[in-house]
Amino acid sequence: MKIIMLGAPGAGKGTQAKKIAEKYEIPHISTGDIFRANIKGGTELGMKAKSYMDQGQLVPDDVTIGMLLDRISAADCANGYVLDGFPRTIPQAESLTKALSERGEKMDYAIDVNVPDEAIVTRMSGRRACLSCGATYHIVYNPPKKADICDVCGEKLVLRDDDKPETVQKRLTVYHEQTQPLIAYYKNAGILVTVDGTKNLNEVFKDITDVLGA
Ligand code: AMP
Repeated sequence: MKIIMLGAPGAGKGTQAKKIAEKYEIPHISTGDIFRANIKGGTELGMKAKSYMDQGQLVPDDVTIGMLLDRISAADCANGYVLDGFPRTIPQAESLTKALSERGEKMDYAIDVNVPDEAIVTRMSGRRACLSCGATYHIVYNPPKKADICDVCGEKLVLRDDDKPETVQKRLTVYHEQTQPLIAYYKNAGILVTVDGTKNLNEVFKDITDVLGA
């Protein structure tokens, strides 16, 4: 099963993507996580991505598309995957559609986790991330067992630079301009599923699995 998660930054698509990956035993592929791992590792790709990310802007398509197409060619993607944070522009979506069709494949679902902007700003200020293993939490909606400590690896949790309020506003503007058009793109492709992302995370997950099946 090949799934795309759509939705504004902070809509909860990353949390849902991880739960989908676990239930259906497919890899969770987050372009944001790949960039952050590269920044941490000090790679050339990481250096290119960092300045865009810190300003709430998108990393250019020429960097992002190749990286993602490489990742989905790996052996662990043979039974499908859930994409979280890709595509984020129409050219990215078109490249993905083209690359898959050349292999006789297509995406199965694009799940839009729908949350109004007002709710996003409140939510993102409560987000905490583990920069070591990529786990994400929310101080109200999905808190770690011990305050500010990652349940998975025990590292200290942080408010990511790109989750700070001034950057969130910029990311929302970028989302509306560049990413929201993908909703119509995947609606036209006949694979769009919209879920109400204002519900609690288990309810949202149930709405998703009702569509994807057991
Ligand atoms: P995320 O963790 O998905 O919220 O992504 C964090 C940041 O990484 C974004 O604000 C962008 O700067 C960058 N990024 C992640 N995925 C993409 C993408 N598909 N295209 C361009 N930039 C991306």
